[in-house]
Amino acid sequence: MKIDIVTIFPDFFHGPMDYGIIRRAREAGLVTIEVHDLRAFAHDKHRTVDDRPFGGGEGMVLKPEPIFECIESLNVLPLEQRCEAKQNVVLLSAQGKRFDQQVAWELANLKRMVLICGRYEGVDERVGEYLADCELSIGDYVLSGGELGAAVIADAVTRLIPGAVGNEASTHYTRPADFRGMQVPEVLVSGNHEEIRRWRRIIALKKTIRNRPDLLSEATLNDVDKALLARIKSGTEKI
Ligand code: SAH
Repeated sequence: MKIDIVTIFPDFFHGPMDYGIIRRAREAGLVTIEVHDLRAFAHDKHRTVDDRPFGGGEGMVLKPEPIFECIESLNVLPLEQRCEAKQNVVLLSAQGKRFDQQVAWELANLKRMVLICGRYEGVDERVGEYLADCELSIGDYVLSGGELGAAVIADAVTRLIPGAVGNEASTHYTRPADFRGMQVPEVLVSGNHEEIRRWRRIIALKKTIRNRPDLLSEATLNDVDKALLARIKSGTEKI
C-alpha cells in the first residue's frame, strides 16, 4: 500500500512512522509512506496556505488551491474512479465519521490512501465536498491539527496489512513463571493447547464483560462463545 500524507508540518512524522511494526513494514516494502509539504504548493513569496473565512468568524482556514494542487500532483484518480481502483483521499476532521477498527480493516484493503491534515480552524469546505472521499475523526475531541490523526490511522491500518504483524496470537504472560510471588496461570505451562485456547477465550470474554459490555450486544458469537458466556455469567466458570 502507498500512504501519502499532506501537511504543513512534514517533520512531525519523523518518529511516529519510524518505529516497530510500521518501520519493519516500510523496510519490507509492504507499505510506502510519503509526506508532502503543503507549503510547496503555495505560490506567493510567503508560501501562504491559510486565509480568513468568508462571512467572518474566528481564526484562519487552509485555502483550497494548495490542497487541490498537491493532491493533483500525486496522480490519484478522479473522485468517481477512486473506489474501484482502491484509492481513497481522506480528510482528517473533528466532524468526520469516527475511525475505529472496522474502518481500519476497510482502509487496509486499499492500494492507495491519501491523508489530508487540517490546521488552524480547519480546511476550506470544498476540500471535503469535492476532493476527499471521506472525512474521518479519530475521536470525539478537537485536536489542533490532523497530524496526530493521520499518524494514528497510518499506524492502525499498516499493522493490518498481511505480513506486517508476524505472529498475531499474543501470550498474556512471559517469563519468569514466578515474578515476585505472582504466578503465571497453571494452564499456560501445561502444554495442553486445547485447554490454553479455551482459557484464553474465557479471559477475553471476561475482560470484555468488565471493560466493554457494549461490545457484547453487537458481537456475533458462536455457540461455543455463547456457552462460555452463559457459564461466566452464572458463575459456574471457575477460571
Ligand atoms: N474548527 C474546527 C476544528 C479545527 S481543528 C472544528 O470545529 O471542527 C484543526 C484540524 O485538526 C482539523 O482541520 C482536523 O484536520 C484536525 N482535527 C481536529 N480534531 C480532530 C479529530 N478528532 N480527528 C481528526 N482530526 C482532527
